[in-house]
Amino acid sequence: MRCIVCKHGETAPGTVTVSVERAGTVVVVRDVPADVCQTCGEEYLTAQVVEQLESLVDKALGAGMDVAVRRYEAA
Ligand SMILES: [Zn+2]
Repeated sequence: MRCIVCKHGETAPGTVTVSVERAGTVVVVRDVPADVCQTCGEEYLTAQVVEQLESLVDKALGAGMDVAVRRYEAA
């Protein structure tokens, strides 16, 4: 699809690293599937992926570390 940020690039499927900070903990999730703009690098996550990310982040927060790194797993 056409990127809505730079309005020039086309997106292509790939994987990205997403970091989320919540309650003083940084959760880094690697290998998250996303469409990435080939021009500006904007990342587009589907609603399904965002939902799964939220559940990974919730689980990681339960571990009580300052920084947690997780690999994305599909539900
Ligand atoms: Zn773009």
